[in-house]
Amino acid sequence: MNESVQLLTPRLAQYDFIGHNFVILFIPFLPQVCYFWKMCLGRYSRCLISRLQSLHLQKRQLCSTATHNGKPSQPSPPSIQVALTESAGRGVFATRRIRASDLIHTAKPIITHPTLSTLNSVCYFCLRKITSSSQYFQHHNARFCGEVCKDNAKAFYDVERRADWSAFNDYCRSQGLKYPLLVKRLACMIISGAESADSIYILQPASLSPEMILEFHASGFLGEQLSLTLQVLNKQWYTNVLARIRINAFRIELAGGLYEDLLSSAAASIESEIAVGNAIYMLPSFYNHDCDPNAHIMWIDNADARLMALRDVEEGEELRICYIDASMARDARQALLSQGFGFQCNCLWCSSGD
Ligand SMILES: [Zn+2]
Ligand SMILES: [Zn+2]
Repeated sequence: MNESVQLLTPRLAQYDFIGHNFVILFIPFLPQVCYFWKMCLGRYSRCLISRLQSLHLQKRQLCSTATHNGKPSQPSPPSIQVALTESAGRGVFATRRIRASDLIHTAKPIITHPTLSTLNSVCYFCLRKITSSSQYFQHHNARFCGEVCKDNAKAFYDVERRADWSAFNDYCRSQGLKYPLLVKRLACMIISGAESADSIYILQPASLSPEMILEFHASGFLGEQLSLTLQVLNKQWYTNVLARIRINAFRIELAGGLYEDLLSSAAASIESEIAVGNAIYMLPSFYNHDCDPNAHIMWIDNADARLMALRDVEEGEELRICYIDASMARDARQALLSQGFGFQCNCLWCSSGD
């Protein structure tokens, strides 16, 4: 999805909705819409069967007991659900009124990776900044902000540090590539058993483009280090995963500061610092784009994302975020969205010529 646009047991995608910690039931109506999907999904139809299987799996996994203050409790109704839009595939809809500045939900990333320029200045797992005065754990070549991140990273990092990544990193650095880094991390997670090979297949893929050639070359370095051709992680897997990471990766810019202050300010105008890394999420990837969005994704001090409402949203209204810099002129926005995400924007702003 988004360029400007957990480890969790990621497929579980646990969200914290406005103070209540529970697991969202986000395809509650799946059987009823299967036929509708088949009729409407056009661009998604090739992967329909595997996607529906994944969605059924997700639905099962997402039906978990909620807890509140450590005690089992009745789950609150979620404030959002994923459903089909008329023309843009899946989207996220409000199931009740959401007020401006409300935190809609949080989301932990499935995959993260620091940018190569921030390897020594952010946590190798959660992307939290590590300053000269911060305490951190140095574990071989990686820095972690604390024991928890070090432990959470253990599975993939034990696999990763068995190989020599200098040629791979040099290639990515020289070509300015970031997506192969996320593919590498996912590959290490899969080899370690922390993740399944098809864990992100539910996400929408990009269509193959000439710009992806350099990123495909990176698979050679990855293959040498991880013997990808000998396993389920072959070239086809690399292609499938890269196509999904390419349009679903979020560029992580930490806002810093007090969360409460940030919530009370105009979130869209928060000054972000330079990107600390990139990450893949599940639910946030289902948000569609609008040049004049009613929701915003933000990061305070690590890669845990917060989705918040920018204005009052009515029940049934679709929640959308902006994938790009909305201050650009209409033609520039259209060009960027077409090249980067493969669609033409028909939002109210663009339709009115602004
Ligand atoms: Zn960390
Ligand atoms: Zn637009």
